[in-house]
Amino acid sequence: MGFTVTVVYDNETLDESLATDWGFAAVVKDSRDTMLLFDTGADGDILERNMRLLQMDPQDISIVVLSHWHWDHSGGLSRILEKAPRATLFVPPGQHPGLSSERTTVVGGAPLQIAPGLYSTGTLSGIEQALVLTGEKGAFTITGCAHPGVPAILAAASTLGRPYGLLGGLHGFAHLDMLDSLDHVYPCHCTQRRLEILRRFPGKAMPCGAGLTIQL
Ligand SMILES: [Zn+2]
Ligand SMILES: [Zn+2]
Repeated sequence: MGFTVTVVYDNETLDESLATDWGFAAVVKDSRDTMLLFDTGADGDILERNMRLLQMDPQDISIVVLSHWHWDHSGGLSRILEKAPRATLFVPPGQHPGLSSERTTVVGGAPLQIAPGLYSTGTLSGIEQALVLTGEKGAFTITGCAHPGVPAILAAASTLGRPYGLLGGLHGFAHLDMLDSLDHVYPCHCTQRRLEILRRFPGKAMPCGAGLTIQL
């Protein structure tokens, strides 16, 4: 199973036509064109506009995975529920108006398969889950803010395959040695040591921003 990952919402952009805003969202498409939205940014208008500029229609989303309930990741959820009412949702414990219990899975602490090749790490530290894309190369992990810590997230991902890539908000993560064993790192959103990561791992750490598209 191959995947295409596109960052659709971030504090930075790689494409001047796209809006930047504090928050994060990424679209994952598999080779059968199943469209998964990971996080929803802070603002539904910005999310929808950026998606449309990237030739994506929110109504085509069939799965929504929310890393955690902070506003900068869940703020666009109401818009997505309105545009894609039949999408299935995978969320950490928490409340949101309009969540239909029959379409929503509240993810517990253990890894869980979401779709072929796509897994949740499980809700770590009771707050946040990460998305793991598996394939021949191993496990590629997408994080929201990484509040449970990158070590805990990569440990959970390693139960699904050899961790080889990481993309997303890494918050205050500072033990950069841990990234030595990875082939690809995309520090996004709230990563405080973004520049340090880019400088320390030239060639394997790449800038993140709205419009970033990678093939796995
Ligand atoms: Zn957060
Ligand atoms: Zn955040």
